[in-house]
Amino acid sequence: MYDTENLFAKILRGEIPSTEIYDDEYAYAFPDINPQAPIHVLVIPKGPYVDMGDLTANGTDAEITGFMRAVGHVAREVLALEEGGYRLLVNNGPDSNQEVPHLHVHIVGGHNLGPLLSK
Ligand code: AMP
Repeated sequence: MYDTENLFAKILRGEIPSTEIYDDEYAYAFPDINPQAPIHVLVIPKGPYVDMGDLTANGTDAEITGFMRAVGHVAREVLALEEGGYRLLVNNGPDSNQEVPHLHVHIVGGHNLGPLLSK
């Protein structure tokens, strides 16, 4: 089910370059290549999870906790977005138009983001 040749698996293995924003046992964060706001960072789990459904169904408690703590840490401490606020976005499966089949949380901020969804 999990495609080990997906783009973000290659980034985790260092086969495709990325700029490290944060790295720990459970998560890696790097800038989105096509930013949709002044700050647009992707946080991905180190484990082979296709999407949030996969991680929450099949990940260990340590992987789930470690990943979610990393997302919060990057937003708060690394990107300093707590005061102005920010949006977390996860595309999950076909209806969401998820492009890369390795779970990634978008952290988006740096200005007012407007409504959640375009009509
Ligand atoms: P999604 O549509 O939620 O699957 O988001 C995939 C995201 O990956 C998009 O926002 C792309 O801009 C981003 N992306 C694609 N290739 C790269 C890359 N090489 N480095 C960083 N971000 C990328």
